[in-house]
Amino acid sequence: MSKIRVRFAPSPTGPLHIGGVRTALYNYLFAKKHSGVFILRIEDTDQTRYVKGAEEYIVESLKWCGIEPDESVQNGGNYGPYKQSERSRIYKEYVAKLIASDNAYYAFDTPDELDNLRKEAENSKTPFVYNAFTREKLKNSTILSKEECEKLIANNTPYVVRFKTPIDKEIVINDLVRGEIKFNSNQTDDKVLFKSDGLPTYHLANIVDDHLMQISHVIRGEEWLPSLPLHVMLYEALSWKAPLFAHLPLILKPEGKGKLSKRDGDKMGFPVFPIEYKTPEGEIYRGYREDGYLPEAFINMLALLGWNPGDEREIMGVNELIEEFSIERVGKSGSRFSPEKAKWFNQQYLHKMPDEKLALLFAEELKKHNIKSDFSKDIKICSLLKERISFVSELWNEAYFFYKTPDNYDEKFAKKAWKEDTAEIMTDLMLLLNKIDQFEANNLETKVKEMIAAKELGFGKVMTPFRLALVGAGKGPHVFDIAEIIGRGETILRIKKAIEAFGNA
Ligand code: GLU
Repeated sequence: MSKIRVRFAPSPTGPLHIGGVRTALYNYLFAKKHSGVFILRIEDTDQTRYVKGAEEYIVESLKWCGIEPDESVQNGGNYGPYKQSERSRIYKEYVAKLIASDNAYYAFDTPDELDNLRKEAENSKTPFVYNAFTREKLKNSTILSKEECEKLIANNTPYVVRFKTPIDKEIVINDLVRGEIKFNSNQTDDKVLFKSDGLPTYHLANIVDDHLMQISHVIRGEEWLPSLPLHVMLYEALSWKAPLFAHLPLILKPEGKGKLSKRDGDKMGFPVFPIEYKTPEGEIYRGYREDGYLPEAFINMLALLGWNPGDEREIMGVNELIEEFSIERVGKSGSRFSPEKAKWFNQQYLHKMPDEKLALLFAEELKKHNIKSDFSKDIKICSLLKERISFVSELWNEAYFFYKTPDNYDEKFAKKAWKEDTAEIMTDLMLLLNKIDQFEANNLETKVKEMIAAKELGFGKVMTPFRLALVGAGKGPHVFDIAEIIGRGETILRIKKAIEAFGNA
């Protein structure tokens, strides 16, 4: 097989929806799997839809996801430029070729004239289509003489170039996801290929660039299926071999009906964008990055949204995904997005993260709470608590008592924990803790249990108020682990404080 070269070709018309990120990811995985090349091409020929900042947003999003292009505006490559607005001189040659080979023609109809035709058609309930059956009644070079056309162009009459769709042509495509797809050319209108602003439309630029960049596989969202017959006809008209196509199914709303839209996230309380997006007007859309997702978890979740490894595996790192990825196992039908599953992935990745790495992330949170942290202590705390969280931001709520002496107590729990004889028991406990040689969880447990047995006390009678004293509430990990981490001095201080607060209850 010739070299695998794939591209992700977003238009910078706004933020990148997670569906777009998934398309980029599948292209990336496919390229890496086959030692191929992954290209990022910016398709910005439609200047009217250009949104400032969108291109930077796309680049930063992919970077955060770890989907690094081999060739792009930033990374260069031998097939550049990688931004269509910088390639405008390239397209003109192919427009000329299509016109010369009678596969395209100049059309001089004004937008007003076309609008009127559309309105008239609406009234008679048959839609207006610019095609083989109507083009000869319109103002274009299929009926005007060469001289007339040249004169119009010389007089700066605005024009577009349209594709001359053949009549009744069967187009059969073997899509790598959907199998055989048949189209009839009569379903396609004479699409505009080139506009009076001197720029090509998406269709022309897209196929010219795919050809010149030697793209072997076009992997893109199924919303581009309607454009496919035109693209295939364009390849034929230019006598080029078309790449192979794979159209990916949609990502559906959590309830399963309809495409997951840009607005769904805020409506349903989860992000649909990889990183936070601020519109030029200052509106803010949430991002997975800012919501505390780990890029590895996000990517893993997205990879499995429409593809599966053929077995029950779910947690797969990027290298494993690359190894296992194949277009054949991309599903034909849409995949329902599940915000709960996204959270689950993040939780799984946090659980298996090395304690040191988690502690580094947690250190950022501690800073927000003005805590000067001792890194070795943070590591121990992370190891104790990581099973309890789905996001790093939840750690503080599980861990604050390791860093702060309780200054108030959960009333309900205190009532349950502190009885008439508790102050005395806690005093005995303090005395014991004071003289224990190794202040370490296992040893503490052994010694405290011995005391409980010797005094014939119930376990709860000691451990519940002990927890109340250390945590201030009925939560947290093993009490002896907490005692070890906060240390002897602080443990005794906290017991003293509780005795002062509750006395003989
Ligand atoms: N520029 C198109 C987009 O915005 C690219 C479609 C394709 O991949 O061919 O998605």
